[in-house]
Amino acid sequence: MDGFSAEEIFTKENGFAYNDFIILPGYIDFAPDDVLLESSLTRNIRIKNPMISSPMDTVTESKMAIALALQGGLGIVHYNNTIEEQAAEVRKVKRFENGFINDPIVLAPGNTLADIDAIKEKYGFSGIPITENGKLNSLLVGIVTNRDVDFETDRSKKLVDVMTTDLVTAKKGISLNQANQILKNSKKGKLPIVDDKGRLIALMSRKDLLKNREYPLASKDPDKQLMVGAALSTRDESMDRLAALVDAGVDVVVVDAAQGNSIYEVDMIKYIKKKYPEIEVVGGNVVTEEQCEILIKAGADALRIGMGPGSICTTQTTMAVGRAQATAVYRTARYARKHSIPVIADGGISTIGHIAKALSLGASVVMMGSMFAGTNEAPGEYFYENGVRLKKYRGMASQEALDAGGAKRYFAEDSKIKVVQGVSGAVLDKGSMFEYVPYLVQGLKHSLQDMGARDITTMHERLYSGKLRFELRSPSAQLEGGVHDMYSYKEPKYM
Ligand code: IMP
Repeated sequence: MDGFSAEEIFTKENGFAYNDFIILPGYIDFAPDDVLLESSLTRNIRIKNPMISSPMDTVTESKMAIALALQGGLGIVHYNNTIEEQAAEVRKVKRFENGFINDPIVLAPGNTLADIDAIKEKYGFSGIPITENGKLNSLLVGIVTNRDVDFETDRSKKLVDVMTTDLVTAKKGISLNQANQILKNSKKGKLPIVDDKGRLIALMSRKDLLKNREYPLASKDPDKQLMVGAALSTRDESMDRLAALVDAGVDVVVVDAAQGNSIYEVDMIKYIKKKYPEIEVVGGNVVTEEQCEILIKAGADALRIGMGPGSICTTQTTMAVGRAQATAVYRTARYARKHSIPVIADGGISTIGHIAKALSLGASVVMMGSMFAGTNEAPGEYFYENGVRLKKYRGMASQEALDAGGAKRYFAEDSKIKVVQGVSGAVLDKGSMFEYVPYLVQGLKHSLQDMGARDITTMHERLYSGKLRFELRSPSAQLEGGVHDMYSYKEPKYM
C-alpha cells in the first residue's frame, strides 16, 4: 500500500506535531452531509460534535458552554474563581432554556436614566425590567424601553417616573411556542416571565425570537437540560468545589493538572468516583502510555492529552518535559482504546486540519482554547490594537492568571516563587460561535470525506487496521502545503 500506517510513523524515535504529517486521500462515495461526527467524550457520554472548550478564564464560562452544548459540543467551565462563582456558571448552563433569558439585567425604580445609559453602552440594548428591589425573583413593577427614555434630557431622572407599567407578561412554565405567540401578538420587544406572585423569573426578547433556531444536535442530559463540564484542581479545596458543582448539576468534571500522573490526581479521581459514581471524570493531562495506565486504573472515564502544545504554553521550553502532540495523541489513544477509554486531544489546534488530524490519530474529541477565545461568547470585552479588533487570551499559568489564582493547576499555589508556564496576549475577533462552529463542523465533514471516512468510528477502525495512510512532510513539503508565491493575499476569516 502507498503511504504508511500511523503505527509505522508514530512509534519511531522522533515526536511529531500535527504539521509534520499529512493524511493520504481515500475513496469518496458519499456527500459531506452524510458524514457523522458523533463521538465519545467519556466512557458514558457521547456528543454529536467532537469539540469542547478549554477550562480557561478567557475561554469558558456559561455563555461559551451554552453555545457549544447547543451545537453538539461541550464547554468545561474554568475554576479561576470562587466556588460559588463556578457553580453559578454551571447552574446557568443547566437552567438554560432556548429562547428564555434566565439572568436578565434588572434595575430598581430608584435607579436613574444614567444607569440605563451605562448598561446600553456596555451591552447595547435597553429593554430593562424593573423590580421592587432591582433583582431577579422580586416583584415586577415596570419595564423601561428605548421609547421611554429617548427624548428625556434629564439623565438623573428616576426610572419610576419614566417606566411603562402597562405590562404584558407570561407565567412561569409557559412553553417556548406559547411565549413566542404572546410576543408576536403583543408587538412588544420584551416579554417578562413571572411566577404566580408576580415575581420576575426570566425574560424573552423579540430579537432572540427572530433568530431563534432549533438545535437538533444539542448535547443534553436525560432531563433534556444542556450538558456541561467543570474543571477542578487536585487540591483539598476541590472537595467543597466538587460538592457545589454536583449540586449545580455538572455532568463531567475535569481534574485539571499540567502533569496529571501524580498521587494527588489518583487520589482525587478515586475520591470522585467513590463519592459521586454518576459523575464522569476526565483525568489528565497525560502524554505517555504509563501515565494513561495509572489514571485509567484510578477510575478515569476519559483522558485529556497534551503537555506543552498549547498556543499560550511555555511548559516544554521551561520544564523540558512534555511530548509532541501528534505522537502523544496516537500513543495514548492506542493504549486507552484497549480499555475503552476515549482520549481528548488538548491544545495545539489552530486549524480545521488540526482537528481532523487529531481525530485521525485516535482522539475521540478535541479541546480548544485559542480557537474559541476570540469569539463573542468567550469571557471578556473586545479591544482595538492598531485598528484590529481583539480579545484577550491568556494561559492559566501566565503571570496574570497565576496572580488571579491559576496556580492550582501547577502544584504551585504555596510556592513563594511562581514559575510561569504560559503567556498572556490577544487573539483576533472571530465573531459569534453560532457562525464559527457550523463552519468548523462543515470543514471537518469535508475533511473526513476526503479521507473516505463516513464517521469517526470508521476512521478509527481504518487507523488501527493500517488502512488509513499517512506520510511525513519535509520542511519544504510543509511550505508547499501552505499559501506561497503570492505577492499579497487576504487570509480567510476562518482556517
Ligand atoms: P490552545 O488550544 O492551543 O490554545 O491550548 C489550550 C490548552 O493549553 C488548554 O486546554 C490547556 O491544556 C493548556 N494550557 C492552558 N493554560 C496553559 C498555560 O499557562 N501553560 C501551558 N498550557 C496551558
